[in-house]
Amino acid sequence: MSLQAKVKKTPDVAILCQNHRIYLEHAAKIGAQSPQQRITFRTSALWKSGKVGLETHGPLRIYFTPSTEGDIVAYEAIVEDILLEPRSDDPATQKLLEHCLPETSDQGLWEAYDEQVRTLYVISHCEWVEPPFSYTALTKLSDGAPVNENYTTGYAIVHEYCPRCQSSPCRC
Ligand SMILES: [Zn+2]
Repeated sequence: MSLQAKVKKTPDVAILCQNHRIYLEHAAKIGAQSPQQRITFRTSALWKSGKVGLETHGPLRIYFTPSTEGDIVAYEAIVEDILLEPRSDDPATQKLLEHCLPETSDQGLWEAYDEQVRTLYVISHCEWVEPPFSYTALTKLSDGAPVNENYTTGYAIVHEYCPRCQSSPCRC
């Protein structure tokens, strides 16, 4: 079965991704003050399966691992919207870019960084994960295996993590 077909059949689908600690910290502070406020992030990965999950199940859980800090999940949030292949001449793209963190507002679609933004994703309810847990506790939808210790792709589709039984998917 394709990953997208699995995503459609799995209600507890979630996303694991990386972002910079400094941005995540700001997002969590905003989340603590006004949880509903939407924040747009950029990524060079194409989140096709994430988009399918969102369209099928509604807003999804997202786990963040701060870049270059090893295997920890330190923040989580809700993904409210995903836009694939954003274009600077597209009004929908511009609308989402208005909700970027102020310190990234001049980054556009990374035209100046020799990289390409292939997905814009919008989160709300960003918060600190206390205590942080290892992303190796998350199970990938693609093959049912735990996320690899050396996961570096920056994006994975996983089962939600249950803090009570500390497993993914929940075994409670
Ligand atoms: Zn559980």
